[in-house]
Amino acid sequence: MPWTYDPQNIFARILRGEIPNKTVAETTHTLVFHDIRPHAPVHVLAIPRGAYVNFDHFAAEASAEEIVDFHRTVAQVIADLGLAGPEGYRAITNSGVSGMQEVPHYHLHILGGRVLGRLVDPA
Ligand code: AMP
Repeated sequence: MPWTYDPQNIFARILRGEIPNKTVAETTHTLVFHDIRPHAPVHVLAIPRGAYVNFDHFAAEASAEEIVDFHRTVAQVIADLGLAGPEGYRAITNSGVSGMQEVPHYHLHILGGRVLGRLVDPA
């Protein structure tokens, strides 16, 4: 398998309670917290509690229960933050070198509260 998980990554340390976070929501399988360097008025990160490096790792190896819990929790947070409906939001995930992933634990960025511009800068 192409995924090697580093248990010392900063989100693993948050999950172990070694580093504080500003929690938005938590369930058995999922934690949502505020990004420390927000890029928008709303910028939260949703992570599974399981040791998954990125989206394709999570999608391939997480249990159905983890996957459902993760997405239902994200949907609830989107509603709770007032982003559902026409206001809208952007949900993005980065992976590896091309995606410029900084923290090697799967996370979904949820951004909103302003018009966010184009998805990526033209090359
Ligand atoms: P990515 O580039 O997709 O890996 O994004 C990693 C995100 O994690 C960045 O937006 C950082 O601001 C955020 N981040 C890094 N350390 C922390 C932390 N201790 N608490 C909250 N967010 C963090």
